[in-house]
Amino acid sequence: MSSHPLEASVSPLPTRREDLLARLTEPQVWDLVVVGGGATGLGVALQAAREGLKVALLEARDFAQGTSSRSTKLVHGGVRYLAQGHWPLVREALHERRGLLERAPHLAQPLAFVMPTYRWGEQAFYGAGLKLYECLAASASLGPTRFLSAQTTQASLPGVRCEGLRGGVQYWDGQFDDARLALALARTAAREGACVVNHVAVQSLMYQGGRVVGVRAHDAEQSTEFEVRAQCVVNATGVWVDGLRLADGRERGLALPDLVSPSQGVHLAVDASFWPCDKALLVPKTADGRVLFAVPWLGKILLGTTDTARADAPWEPRPASEEVDLILKEAGRYLRKVPQRQDVLSAWAGLRPLVKTEATASKVHGATQNISREHHVEVSASALVTVTGGKWTTYHAMAQDVLRQARTHAGLRMPERAMTHDCKLVGAPVFDSPRIGLTSPAGMHLYGSEGDEVKALPGGDRVLAPGLTEGMVRFAARYEYARTVEDVLARRSRCLFLDAALAKALAPMVAQILNEELGVDPSLAAFEALADDYVRCP
Ligand SMILES: Cc1cc2nc3c(=O)[nH]c(=O)nc-3n(C[C@H](O)[C@H](O)[C@H](O)COP(=O)(O)OP(=O)(O)OC[C@H]3O[C@@H](n4cnc5c(N)ncnc54)[C@H](O)[C@@H]3O)c2cc1C
Repeated sequence: MSSHPLEASVSPLPTRREDLLARLTEPQVWDLVVVGGGATGLGVALQAAREGLKVALLEARDFAQGTSSRSTKLVHGGVRYLAQGHWPLVREALHERRGLLERAPHLAQPLAFVMPTYRWGEQAFYGAGLKLYECLAASASLGPTRFLSAQTTQASLPGVRCEGLRGGVQYWDGQFDDARLALALARTAAREGACVVNHVAVQSLMYQGGRVVGVRAHDAEQSTEFEVRAQCVVNATGVWVDGLRLADGRERGLALPDLVSPSQGVHLAVDASFWPCDKALLVPKTADGRVLFAVPWLGKILLGTTDTARADAPWEPRPASEEVDLILKEAGRYLRKVPQRQDVLSAWAGLRPLVKTEATASKVHGATQNISREHHVEVSASALVTVTGGKWTTYHAMAQDVLRQARTHAGLRMPERAMTHDCKLVGAPVFDSPRIGLTSPAGMHLYGSEGDEVKALPGGDRVLAPGLTEGMVRFAARYEYARTVEDVLARRSRCLFLDAALAKALAPMVAQILNEELGVDPSLAAFEALADDYVRCP
């Protein structure tokens, strides 16, 4: 177990599933069991382990397979929330942004954004807002907000539509690789002593004397069931929190209303030729009042997103054709080279876990873009701690809040040991080294200080496709908890989200390597069907 930030350079910890399950099922009472391995749950597990608690985390599918791999990839305060007047939320997120960039500089970096303006008064109006955004960041600012002439805007954004261009505003935010950051959180939590396991679902809660004392879990691979006992259970299942929350209410004879209102956001990946620069585009107000981004990411351009209320929360949400229409239409208004449906390399959707509060309940059936993005923690009478809402950017502040509330209201006993300094995540370069930005195609730079370990594995130099080597697949299986082709091609590599047809073509090779490494069926056919869905742009 490490306690020093410089220990980011130790050898990777093996993630042999048999060992993880053996440890998880040992007869013992964990201090904390976290349910859900997205940004929120992983953040809680890491923070708790650092504070000296004995922690287990159970994820039903793969880490970040829910919302946490489907974000816009921005580490940001949220300019849109500024316009909505959520200043404290923006200020907190801007400070968290800085911390995140420092913890994992190989996976999260500053990015310049430019907002082109076409109407009189727009530059002054939005420019003032973006100056305020910079001021709210104060010492955590990533760079100055600048007003640009039409000529400079055009030079900065060679892909922008020029007719009627009056000028622009440039400001700074961050971008990251969301799924790889989730893996870094999981692996750092493990390094700090937590037992984190994917592909194990929590099916129900265990009670004693009216209090939650553990969970019943199901291992998806072996189809076995077991119990995990804990002093405190945190329900961090994102948009799915109401499953356990409502069951907990029923245990106490209560019919609770839902807490979460899912809102779907769609992204389309297109070739870099549609936006040939390393700055992002911000459109502050689309025709229907939303925000649209074109973000250069890992060698492609992400266009998005939408904000569509949904009554259900499927594991694998799919974009609606109207959402694709909306993104292409709005992008077409700002991009010189206009993307069409056939240009889309991958189309995917994620569900925001927006929290219904009394104040917003009346809006729930209408526009979800108005519902608060603040997180919400509640502790039930049986001491189940539920956390949802918030943003990827604020995972660390959310984790601190969860532990505070678990201590105060759920009787979680904290040990004496307290970690106050911030810690670098696994893979973070110990000393500043030359960096390749996240706008560049995927490659060894995403492995940070672990690049040599990846290269030293069998096939370390054998390139399967640009940005993916045999060594990376073996590393995923040995040290990054990967069990299936999807685990590798969607979240260790991001190929599924960037170019779904290429991901499908690579799948048989990846399956063969995984089979050699793990000796289990890596679900090739299921992945090929999924990749077809991402290729098909509705
Ligand atoms: C379109 C879109 C764009 C976004 N863009 C940004 C952005 O640019 N920047 C930003 O900061 N934020 C962004 N967000 C918000 C951010 O992605 C989410 O707030 C965050 O990922 C939520 O993480 P989570 O861990 O709460 O949920 P999830 O990531 O969904 O994790 C919950 C996990 O719980 C698991 N689970 C469910 N039930 C069980 C069970 N019974 N047992 C075990 N496990 C279970 C699920 O499989 C899932 O992995 C965006 C969100 C969306 C939808």
